[in-house]
Amino acid sequence: MNQKGILIVVSGFAGTGKGTIMKELLRRYSGQYALSISMTTRSPRPGEQDGVEYFFTDRETFEHEIAVGGLIEHACYCDHYYGTPRAYVDSQLLMGKDVILEIEVQGALQIKEKFPDTVLLFVVPPSVQILYDRLKGRGTESGEVIAARMKRAGEECAYIPHYDYILVNDDLDVCVEQMHHIIQSQKLAAARNATFIESIYSDLQSLSF
Ligand code: ADP
Ligand code: 5GP
Repeated sequence: MNQKGILIVVSGFAGTGKGTIMKELLRRYSGQYALSISMTTRSPRPGEQDGVEYFFTDRETFEHEIAVGGLIEHACYCDHYYGTPRAYVDSQLLMGKDVILEIEVQGALQIKEKFPDTVLLFVVPPSVQILYDRLKGRGTESGEVIAARMKRAGEECAYIPHYDYILVNDDLDVCVEQMHHIIQSQKLAAARNATFIESIYSDLQSLSF
């Protein structure tokens, strides 16, 4: 079977619960997945640590990384840069881990273009009211930032048809299990296992009954 890991993109409106889902997925299936840590120019929220949630950096350093090809994708979201460092993704895929990029829609499309085998998942809330309540209830953003993110959610909706699956984050447990099963099913796709199928074919051809 295919031993190399696969690349997965997880997107969703701010406050949908992506971070919460990622944490739980990694807790349950820690050996299987690697979560890419992005670089960003936004400031850390209370409790966030450099090198854990993000690599927090300034604009100049971020632009240097773009120039030297250190990011496999990048985008500007609500006035801040976000991007995926290349080295970690490459090394984890080679080690057989399934690598998850929790990124927004513009970055997702860049990844799909560069790596067409990527599985694209979009997490949606059960309703817009619940989305707003979660974003507000998290208590980490000002009213102004919440309004900008809700507005951006309206724009992001137009990108959902580019994704392979949507996942409704109503019950966290159900959502995490659905995500795990979608990813694992993708790994069994015949097209991803061509070498293995060829080896069976060739062994069958060499039989002499
Ligand atoms: P995102 O990473 O998508 O911006 P978070 O993971 O920070 O969102 O979640 C936003 C808020 O919603 C948090 O306070 C989190 O605890 C809560 N939350 C996440 N998933 C659920 C869920 N399934 N049910 C209820 N609350 C949830
Ligand atoms: P937040 O500031 O809430 O952590 O993230 C804001 C948005 O940026 C979210 O939609 C998140 O998925 C996205 N994001 C985080 N890291 C990256 C990245 O490396 N690239 C891109 N394109 N988006 C990212």
